[in-house]
Amino acid sequence: MWKCKGCSETNEDSSGRCWYCGTGKDGSPPPKDFRRNSAVTSHTDCPQPPVAGSKSQEYRYNDAYLVAKALWTFGEAIKYIGLGLGAIILIAAVIIAAKGGGALVFVCGVLLGLIVAIPICILGVLLTAQAQVLRATLDTAVHTSPFLTKEGMARAMYL
Ligand SMILES: [Zn+2]
Repeated sequence: MWKCKGCSETNEDSSGRCWYCGTGKDGSPPPKDFRRNSAVTSHTDCPQPPVAGSKSQEYRYNDAYLVAKALWTFGEAIKYIGLGLGAIILIAAVIIAAKGGGALVFVCGVLLGLIVAIPICILGVLLTAQAQVLRATLDTAVHTSPFLTKEGMARAMYL
């Protein structure tokens, strides 16, 4: 038998470190990953730090978040392109009508502008909606992850 230099517990000769606090037979400090024996751990003990590997959980969804962000930007850009094209056609119709094209040219121009702008805008809306769905899914995954701390969640969600 040997007495622990850290906590004065008695230990078997066969064990290299203290069964209770992890201090080595020669007085060396306990290894970082040593956990106190659960049978004797009192409720006043500090809670264990978050499990190692939680860091990688934060980055687990980073690529997916980037895709959501890119998809959002792309959808927004398409919406503006659709509106821009519609506006250009409308302005062209107004100019041609004013130069003697008449009301028919103007009406056709407005219709053409709408025919071009509306589907492109719808495509943009579909893309941004998809990005929002993806983000919401990711947020749920991050929120329900048992491996992440509040700060880790915020980092994972780019908050
Ligand atoms: Zn000890």
